[in-house]
Amino acid sequence: MPRARIDLHTHSTASDGTDRPAELVAHAAASGVDVLAITDHDTTAGWDEAAAALRPGMRLIRGAEFSCAGPTGRADPDVSVHLLGYLFDPEHPAIVAEQLRLRTERVQRLHRMTEKMAADGYPVDVETVFALLPDGASAGRPHLARALVAAGVVESVNEAFAKLLYTGSPYYVPKADTPVDTAIAMVRAAGGVAVFAHPLARRRGRVVEPSVLVDLAAAGLTGVEVDHPDHGPEDRKLLRGLAADLGLVATGSSDYHGTNKTTPIAAETTGEDALEALVARATGAEVLTG
Ligand code: AMP
Ligand code: FE
Ligand code: FE
Ligand code: ZN
Repeated sequence: MPRARIDLHTHSTASDGTDRPAELVAHAAASGVDVLAITDHDTTAGWDEAAAALRPGMRLIRGAEFSCAGPTGRADPDVSVHLLGYLFDPEHPAIVAEQLRLRTERVQRLHRMTEKMAADGYPVDVETVFALLPDGASAGRPHLARALVAAGVVESVNEAFAKLLYTGSPYYVPKADTPVDTAIAMVRAAGGVAVFAHPLARRRGRVVEPSVLVDLAAAGLTGVEVDHPDHGPEDRKLLRGLAADLGLVATGSSDYHGTNKTTPIAAETTGEDALEALVARATGAEVLTG
């Protein structure tokens, strides 16, 4: 058997990706992906459509990327941290309540960011931005970025982030994310496994000290995303070493967002052993087979 091609971090229109969940699965299949995880921000709304579109021989890992905040391991303020939860029970009350709270935060915050830009004369309005969102989807800065592209203000989503929407920009509005240790406990209580997404993605802003992984491992973290498009070779080496020392599962994933980012699906992949180790520790939801 050839080695399975495993991509454990992708987004659909249920959050800030541009492929509908069924299109995401079709695209993964066409790209030779055998095992796909759907990990939209703060929602499981894409799970059922993705499951229904599964092709024979493919496996679907149902997950989500949780918006969290946590200590940096230095004296500076807490930083935004993303936590991938896999194979948790989507009906676990704490998950349902916290994801709803996060999505509400996201809507209010995107409203305020859009209004701030409109007040400064940018040709964007709340109606146009929210028209890009299917019912129940998680609102995110990429939706505002696409409205700015459509209005001709910038040429790409990436340029919108670089010039106008970056964390700390005059138009940036923060949201109240989940304390990362709370999120790990919640995912574990719902039978899932938690993986720290792109911990050293430095181009997005401040990142944690790698030593923070020691505390998170003690708090129940199962894995860490090592191979990610936003990680350079030195950081990957450091994270791989730390993962081995701490007994954390090392994963690799594309963080595919359709045309909102330039990274192709399966640009980075996870090994079969790592996948097995994650699945073996999860009890909240089944791995689906097409
Ligand atoms: P939000 O979740 O609303 O805070 O927006 C953050 C999301 O924007 C991330 O999940 C990424 O998908 C996306 N993002 C961040 N930086 C960039 C960038 N430079 N280009 C395109 N998308 C980005
Ligand atoms: Fe995203
Ligand atoms: Fe992320
Ligand atoms: Zn992501």
